[in-house]
Amino acid sequence: MQLVVAHMYPDLLNIYADRGNVAVLLRRASWRDIELIVRPVDQGQRLPGDADLVYIGGGQDRDQQLIAADIASRSEELESFVDDDGALLAVCGGYQLLGRAYVDADGSELPGAGVFPLRTVAGERRLIGDVLLECAFAEGPARPVAGFENHAGRTELDAGARPFGRVIYGFGNDGRSGYEGCTRKAAIGTYLHGPLLPRNPWLADWLLERALEHRTGQEHDLSPLDDALEASAQALASQRARARGGRL
Ligand code: GLN
Repeated sequence: MQLVVAHMYPDLLNIYADRGNVAVLLRRASWRDIELIVRPVDQGQRLPGDADLVYIGGGQDRDQQLIAADIASRSEELESFVDDDGALLAVCGGYQLLGRAYVDADGSELPGAGVFPLRTVAGERRLIGDVLLECAFAEGPARPVAGFENHAGRTELDAGARPFGRVIYGFGNDGRSGYEGCTRKAAIGTYLHGPLLPRNPWLADWLLERALEHRTGQEHDLSPLDDALEASAQALASQRARARGGRL
């Protein structure tokens, strides 16, 4: 079995080693005898037609300025990928630019792809620290996600938009709403770096399962792995978030 991952702007959007998320997907797939083919997608290159999963990492305002026009021009191609149940993970700067727009710290309005129903405006104080979320967007019981956030952007979801998680500790989208990230079908946008997937292996598997379903048109449940090490990493990160306490 082969799956194709489109890794967008891998050189420009890779803050906090966000490419580590791709390494986790590769390894967890290979442990199940699934070959993941990673295709970098840079400015001006089309999304590969055989992509099952799109990944886009985080970046500073200046990196976002470089790619905003390119990402906005992909509105149709990304939207049809998501409508067609393709799996997608977008982190921080990438998450912001998959919304309608990001007004950066200089006040410039960067256009986004409009895949997620949201808009982001940079605030004065950065929202930084460990985060613990409760995620109930997927089927089954709500599950914890631990990560790290560092963003100036305050993201406001449109009415009816589905958040990625509820903030237990940390700031989340804007430090006020109590929500973090956004989901649409098998697409997830989130502020959590770290990278995100090493500490939250259930989420990596959720994305792989959606990618497998996109490829085969059939339901897939991946075989469980021994995640003892990952669970202790998540416990440590959750403890740090707990020690940090409440919101803004
Ligand atoms: N430039 C954005 C912000 O500060 C995103 C930062 C990031 O990806 N860490 O809100």
